[in-house]
Amino acid sequence: MKKHNFYAGPSILPQFTIDETAKAIKDFAGTGLSIMEVSHRSKEVIAVMEEAQNLFKELLNIPDGYTVLFLGGGASTQFLMVPYNLLNKKAAYLVTGGWASKACKEAKQFGEVVEVASSKETTYNYIPTGWAVPEDADYLHITTNNTLYGTQIREDFDCKVPLVADMSSDIFSRPVDISKYSLIYGGAQKNLAPAGITFVIVKNDILGKVERHIPTMMDYKTHIENDSMFNTPPVLPLYAALMTLRWLKNNGGLVEMERKNIEKAKILYDEIERNPLFKPTIKNEKDRSLMNICFLMNEGYEHLEKDFNDFAAKNGMIGIKGHRSTGGFRASTYNALPKESVEALVNTMKEFESINK
Ligand SMILES: *Cc1c(COP(=O)(O)O)cnc(C)c1O
Repeated sequence: MKKHNFYAGPSILPQFTIDETAKAIKDFAGTGLSIMEVSHRSKEVIAVMEEAQNLFKELLNIPDGYTVLFLGGGASTQFLMVPYNLLNKKAAYLVTGGWASKACKEAKQFGEVVEVASSKETTYNYIPTGWAVPEDADYLHITTNNTLYGTQIREDFDCKVPLVADMSSDIFSRPVDISKYSLIYGGAQKNLAPAGITFVIVKNDILGKVERHIPTMMDYKTHIENDSMFNTPPVLPLYAALMTLRWLKNNGGLVEMERKNIEKAKILYDEIERNPLFKPTIKNEKDRSLMNICFLMNEGYEHLEKDFNDFAAKNGMIGIKGHRSTGGFRASTYNALPKESVEALVNTMKEFESINK
């Protein structure tokens, strides 16, 4: 049976990425060697690094004055690298989910942290509005897509202080106005590559302003000066990332990705709204994620949650169980997920309705 991969992360990748990476594991760039056994200082790997940086700049339309880095450590290491490098006295955090909360907690080790707003009390089921950023904050940190809870900030807003964004789970899902941000980071394993590589887009002139001593590996400048090769970068995930970047470019770029993502999300949200057995977890349409679509059993049908999980699994739906803190379901609809998979899930929901009504 065809499997439909709705995992939240690590998650579905383009078949092109998987096929090309498999080839490079056998024979990388005509070297007769596996990419897993080639020096990161070889001209072939340096070419991979350069092309990946250039495609990042091209696809996201990154202005001059920014550097693209590829590091290890995951987004979670960025939770501390950001304050290490940017927090002098005070930082502001918008707490919209579990990851945002973890980022905020790390920053507290480096100075004063102001939570400008939090939706924690209602299990992060909306994006707070109407908050203000202290003008003397060194930066404001946001999480653009809340992978666990299914909310998303899809607008690149103006901010009086440098804006830092965790875009782990929505990078490349839409065009972004990079000029509004001073730093963007993310783990690759949601929309780009297998786990192991972390991207950072940093505006060069925000660095060098903190008074503390920064350990070498934690200092963005180290990685800028060494072109992300101060230590051995995760070469295999980097290669896979490059394949996804080429796939993005050859499939219409980010304008086309966004169009497809909006189309897929609409198909699924419409069914969640229509089907009397289900209801959306996020009520406010503006706050709904295009990447992680969360839904619950409707009132009166709560007892069918496990049944639907089993029924969906039998129909080839993989990874739709919701996060343990919300229950219900979460279908992740990243770039590589085809519309056919969303339609298959919708059909499964309809069938389940006809059996249980
Ligand atoms: C998955 C995720 C993280 C954690 O990423 P790691 O690479 O596992 O550290 C952080 N932020 C967001 C928004 C995520 O989705």
